[in-house]
Amino acid sequence: MSILSIEIVRNAVADHPDPETGRPLDSMGQIKNVTVDENRAEITVGLTTHSAPMADELSDVLKSKVVAVAPGSKVNVVFVDHPRPPARVGQIALKAKSVIAVGSGKGGVGKSTVAASIALTLRRFGSKVGLMDADVYGPSIPHLLGLSGRPALTAQKRIEPIKLGNDLPVMSMGFLVEPDQAVIWRGPMLHGSINQFLGDTDWGELDYLIIDMPPGTGDVALTLSQALPLAGAVIVCTPQEVALLDAMKAISMFRKVEIPILGMVENMSGFQCPDCGKTYDIFGKGGARKKAEELSVPFLGGLPIDVTLRTAGDEGKLAEVIETNDTSRAPLDAITKAVVRELAIRAANQPPKVSLPTL
Ligand code: ADP
Repeated sequence: MSILSIEIVRNAVADHPDPETGRPLDSMGQIKNVTVDENRAEITVGLTTHSAPMADELSDVLKSKVVAVAPGSKVNVVFVDHPRPPARVGQIALKAKSVIAVGSGKGGVGKSTVAASIALTLRRFGSKVGLMDADVYGPSIPHLLGLSGRPALTAQKRIEPIKLGNDLPVMSMGFLVEPDQAVIWRGPMLHGSINQFLGDTDWGELDYLIIDMPPGTGDVALTLSQALPLAGAVIVCTPQEVALLDAMKAISMFRKVEIPILGMVENMSGFQCPDCGKTYDIFGKGGARKKAEELSVPFLGGLPIDVTLRTAGDEGKLAEVIETNDTSRAPLDAITKAVVRELAIRAANQPPKVSLPTL
């Protein structure tokens, strides 16, 4: 005789937090249906596109919660879309749920590659993503994605971003200046262009806006922090001790402007030789994980030196690799899920917004 009932199943999962809001799934109307047949249960859960990268993990947790109260039961979790449009961010016209800055202490560590790859991976999981290249001193996003053209103005005088495959809006200074032109930025110009990129661009409705930050300096971070509340920053570094010192500076810079740190990514973390399969730790390995622990910052994962990724970046084909190459994208999938998980943990830890009765 099975002890499973619709009530038992519903109660087991009702309070699990929705990854996006951190509120109980059932209270958000996201437990759409529960059916039970002997020792088999099926739960239909509404998930927003913001949480799409968490679907597998959420399925596993919900299954284990049911099995914990009804050992031996077989549980199937079915996800359906749960539409929840984004609100405006701060005082600007941008509509996005999570704005994430990707920064580094210095150039050349793969920050733009990681920023673009996180955006592409979120999109592959089904989230709605925009990518803003705020690395105004060396915009490389158009090159990595093989994009060119000049953004047009819409009838409402808003900037039309250049789109990758019709669904990933991208804005970059690289679309506005010739590739070989040096741009000399004065503070107010920089401030103005970042605000225009953010507020005057027709981004559409986004789950995530990923911002590729210029390395090191704090000007753009300050402008951003004044313009809108950011969900947080991802810090990219390489494993060597000197690179980690730069990463620490980037972390302290973001902290100064009160942008929370979502975690650290170790890029160029080991190299697996495609010919012999042997792994070489060219820059060392694990330094960022250790440093992250010391700084009480989450470690989001490592990305090995990958010749396929480098070639794809040089040829403007990063999107193709993320879409088709299981080996190259595996570490990026893990990093992207870690970012979304970190947001979910923060949402769940926020005190519930209930008004207390006045005594
Ligand atoms: P940054 O934005 O920090 O200046 P980029 O993302 O432009 O760095 O990367 C610098 C160079 O390193 C590019 O040629 C890029 O293709 C390459 N690169 C970045 N990450 C990797 C990696 N994990 N494996 C191989 N090459 C990489």
